[in-house]
Amino acid sequence: MKLLFCTRCKEIFSLTYQFKTCTCGLIRGKYYVDGERIVYNGKGLVLGIGNQSLSNLKEKKEERIEIFIHPDTTGNIIVDRSLLGG
Ligand SMILES: [Zn+2]
Repeated sequence: MKLLFCTRCKEIFSLTYQFKTCTCGLIRGKYYVDGERIVYNGKGLVLGIGNQSLSNLKEKKEERIEIFIHPDTTGNIIVDRSLLGG
């Protein structure tokens, strides 16, 4: 699961299939229809929650979850600097 983190207003939000923008307007992004790739304006950070952590969270098994800076090496993160934001 991918999240966007705004380094300016410190907001973290999950992505959907509709564009979302953080409170201060710096970052903007969404999932593509395939549910794997995302497009965002390249500002802020893309975060991920591990699948096991997400399962544990749903089942309330663990008090801790793993959130990491998503590597931009999978081809699933597309930066479109023409998107509004900033
Ligand atoms: Zn912001």
